[in-house]
Amino acid sequence: MIQTIEASPDEIYDIELEHSLLEANAKLAKENRSLLDRHGIASIDVMGAIGSGKTTLIGRLVERLKDRLGVAVFNGDATISSDADLIARQNVPVVQIATVNGCHLDANLVGKALRKIDLTKLKLIFIENIGNLICPAEFPLGSKARVVVVSVTEGQYMVRKHPHMFLGADLVVVNKIDLASAMEVSIEDLIADVHKLKPDLKVIRTSCKNGVGLDELTASLLAI
Ligand code: MG
Ligand code: ZN
Repeated sequence: MIQTIEASPDEIYDIELEHSLLEANAKLAKENRSLLDRHGIASIDVMGAIGSGKTTLIGRLVERLKDRLGVAVFNGDATISSDADLIARQNVPVVQIATVNGCHLDANLVGKALRKIDLTKLKLIFIENIGNLICPAEFPLGSKARVVVVSVTEGQYMVRKHPHMFLGADLVVVNKIDLASAMEVSIEDLIADVHKLKPDLKVIRTSCKNGVGLDELTASLLAI
């Protein structure tokens, strides 16, 4: 159930790239979106730092959803396939998008992944972006919603350090809340930082350790 696509050197764009390439990405993102819309598939771009818990969170959501509707997962990772392997154990279609040394996914790579799987049976695709809170914000993928995962283990100032990520988000997950007191991080202050940037942005608190917030997150994603 696991397939891999890999970026060739001419497909690796970076943040310093010219405006025309960002435009090219935006055009490809629109094409991805219309392909997904034609098939009635919602896709969710999951962004967040390395170690924020994106893969585990997606795994928990797939567990809750896979018997109810067709779910697939694209795992963006620079090289190794450990995250894709973990999700593939749940017997859902998985495409590993290996960016080689690219620090974000782009619409071209996601378009290639979309051509790798049978879209007719799917209703939802999770796209795990590369662990990076800077340039994924510049690269829409054609997803229906962008979710940012921020964990208390990343410290108190993660949100205010990366405003563009949160300004472009449709939903924020504050993850690993079971570790908040050990980390001496205030969840309330993290959420206040989110709302200073975007007052109406929905924030859900989760812990994959004890399951808190996962049903609420599942329901919110299904409503997107
Ligand atoms: Mg991961
Ligand atoms: Zn990048």
